[in-house]
Amino acid sequence: MDYFPLFHQLAQQPVLVIGGGKIALRKITLLEKSGASIRVVAKSILPEIRNKQSCVCEQRAFAESDLHDVVLVVVATDDRAFNEQVSVLAKKQRLLVNVVDSPDLCNVIFPSIVDRNPLLIAITSSGRAPVLARTVRAKLESTIPASFGHLAQLASKFREQVKQTLSQADDRLRFWEKTLNGVTAEHVYAGRMDAAETSLLTALNNPDLRTLGEVYLVGAGPGDPDLLTFKALRLMQQADVVVHDALVSDAIMELVRRDADRIYVGKRRSNHALPQEQINQLLVDLAKQGKRVLRLKGGDPFIFGRGGEEIDLLAENAIPFQVVPGITAASGCASYSGIPLTHRDYAQSVRFVTGHLKDGSANLPWQDLVSTAQTLVFYMGLNGISTICEQLVAHGRDAQTPIALIQKGTTPEQKVFIGTLETMPDIVLREKPQAPTLTIVGEVVSLHEKLNWFNG
Ligand code: SAH
Repeated sequence: MDYFPLFHQLAQQPVLVIGGGKIALRKITLLEKSGASIRVVAKSILPEIRNKQSCVCEQRAFAESDLHDVVLVVVATDDRAFNEQVSVLAKKQRLLVNVVDSPDLCNVIFPSIVDRNPLLIAITSSGRAPVLARTVRAKLESTIPASFGHLAQLASKFREQVKQTLSQADDRLRFWEKTLNGVTAEHVYAGRMDAAETSLLTALNNPDLRTLGEVYLVGAGPGDPDLLTFKALRLMQQADVVVHDALVSDAIMELVRRDADRIYVGKRRSNHALPQEQINQLLVDLAKQGKRVLRLKGGDPFIFGRGGEEIDLLAENAIPFQVVPGITAASGCASYSGIPLTHRDYAQSVRFVTGHLKDGSANLPWQDLVSTAQTLVFYMGLNGISTICEQLVAHGRDAQTPIALIQKGTTPEQKVFIGTLETMPDIVLREKPQAPTLTIVGEVVSLHEKLNWFNG
């Protein structure tokens, strides 16, 4: 180890900053959070520093006596020879010294910080590759919820009470593991501290509840794993079992916790692996076994996802659950094919329609779908594409209205087929697009030519 990590309590401690420019400002802004007494010495000092309540500023040249009675010196000038001189003087007095951007002159360095006070994570590359440390930090920032610190506060508040109620260390461990990862934690992340406390106490005082699992109904987006939400990813990584179907891409399944059990209940057309009622019951049964169940669905669970039905039975059985929205196919496919769904000049509204026509019959409210100022998005419409095009024209939409059919949107196999209501049925017969496909109808489709960016 080139550096030994310690956390330094700096409140009210004298810290000297030499330099008054932008870099000094950055360090001062960071140091302020510790409550240190900061003195700034420099020949010129930015007004932003001078205006700070927490700093005493002395606009003059540095003198050796400035090092007297100081615990930490931060040197932030661009004069290398001068910086070196201060560093030597400070080290001679056994002071902690940091010279910005010169690791060789430092005996302490500023780490990258993930701040979830009281939980703090400091990362360093020992001054060798700061960009790498920042990359690690970005990764942690994205997986640790912003309000993680509140969770730590909650745990500390109830620590004693839990100890008294659960005398066995094993029981406490299990209790905390569940509380800090489950419903209680989610209340905290959502800023509902009162609800979090109630849920913690309910679990603590009801042994039955402590053994009950929970269900996460999570939208996995249209395919590209980068389109997952932070919350989806977090829950994917803490589930004991994942119940998934055909629309969830392999790239996304890769991100599920490795040792989670996987249950495929996939629905491909006319090949229903499990009827919906059995899926609903399966979720209940797994949760009753104490499992954290991830019900992973393509797109958004509440848009043509039957998510409502699945949580209905959970609610009846008093099983805790939460729902995480995902990017629905319409948003994903529209963005990745350069087709804005609304546009000031072309479409003032957008309508999501199921194209799954029962027995191929035309049972949609076609009359409502012919306004030119409205973009239509058909989900599950591939098989009924000719009926859709015919009926729209029959009810008054112009046969020349542009239409796009997007195959496997947002994935490397995305393909966009463009035509009109008149030509699209033949294009589909000829090109044989592969499911899943999404259909967008309306003038906005004409923007694809100019705005397409994903397929090159
Ligand atoms: N809940 C999902 C939709 C489920 S219905 C969501 O919000 O996206 C299934 C239909 O979604 C498919 O028939 C297809 O029309 C559409 N779909 C889902 N993913 C898609 C993708 N990557 N590309 C194109 N269409 C997709």
